Amino acid sequence: MNLKHLIDRLHQSHNLSLDEFTELLARRDEELQAYAASLAAETAEKHYGKKVFIRGLIEFTNICKNDCYYCGIRASNRSAQRYRLSEEQILACAQNGYALGFRTFVLQGGEDPYYTDDKICQLVRQLKHNHPDCAVTLSIGEKTRESYAMYRKAGADRYLLRHETATPAHYRHLHPPSMSAENRYECLRTLKELGYQTGAGFMVGSPGQRPEDLARDLLFLGKLQPEMVGIGPFIPAAGTPFAQEPAGTLDETLFLLSLIRLMMPEVLLPATTALGTIDPRGREKGLLAGANVVMPNLSPKSVREKYQLYDNKICTGEEAAECIVCLTKRIESVGRELAVSRGDNIRYLNTKEELHCV
Ligand code: SAH
Repeated sequence: MNLKHLIDRLHQSHNLSLDEFTELLARRDEELQAYAASLAAETAEKHYGKKVFIRGLIEFTNICKNDCYYCGIRASNRSAQRYRLSEEQILACAQNGYALGFRTFVLQGGEDPYYTDDKICQLVRQLKHNHPDCAVTLSIGEKTRESYAMYRKAGADRYLLRHETATPAHYRHLHPPSMSAENRYECLRTLKELGYQTGAGFMVGSPGQRPEDLARDLLFLGKLQPEMVGIGPFIPAAGTPFAQEPAGTLDETLFLLSLIRLMMPEVLLPATTALGTIDPRGREKGLLAGANVVMPNLSPKSVREKYQLYDNKICTGEEAAECIVCLTKRIESVGRELAVSRGDNIRYLNTKEELHCV
């Protein structure tokens, strides 16, 4: 059976059933993938033009209390060399990034108890004080509602917290018993309620993942309606229980990017570093499949190799300035242009305007 009609329906009505998504994922072929990508790229262009938004990623600590089975900076990976950036170092990364055209800074790290809520709030306030025209995004894991509310009050605009998988049994296969899927989903709902532009997402091809799990991830996104979605292939990491597992594939990730764009036309969708790691032109291919964000690294060169979520991560030896030259060329090679702007989600902005809160 020809599955193009399902892609057409997704394009028009932005939704499909669990069985329909599962069928698409289980029976994807090259032609279907190309068809979905062309509609998805057209959709991204309709809402955001040829623009590709950049986010300056500051990986400020690789110390983590959690022990996720897939992650290279998990607590029990003794071979990880741990580091923390000081407030001065973090602010200097942002300063440097600002001069290069970044208008969003993403503070990402392990769940490191050293950075108390007060320290995080102080950092957010400083960043917003130094760069009032920039957005600050946090990606520091699961916190209480009170903590999320404090960060928001301090000025944080956005929060990235991938749900990792919408199938609780698969979640248990990827995480130790101390972590729960329900808490992760609850955190995401809280972030939305607090008015963050919220990012959910998942890994593609994580050990034990089935097409119906991915289909469930899509339905989860459809229900949550996050402003951003981060997906990338699972890549095995040394020193983890999944070190010998195969990586997720480029094609499956590209197809999912296209499905997500068709389901959520206004979503901000990065072509992730993991995608660039499994294929030298992975990020460009991601842009051609519906993505419209890239998140280069602004962390100091000295610590980049240490934020090893997975093996062979790209861009670990470059200065931020070199990264941006290289990225600009990559973006232009696929007929797109780098945007110097905050790159807010347009639907989020429109709703805020209606509520007079901008
Ligand atoms: N501590 C933060 C940031 C986690 S790192 C948090 O909990 O949100 C950001 C993302 O990297 C994770 O959400 C996960 O989806 C991804 N990641 C971790 N290990 C990975 C691996 N081995 N391959 C691909 N992606 C990985």
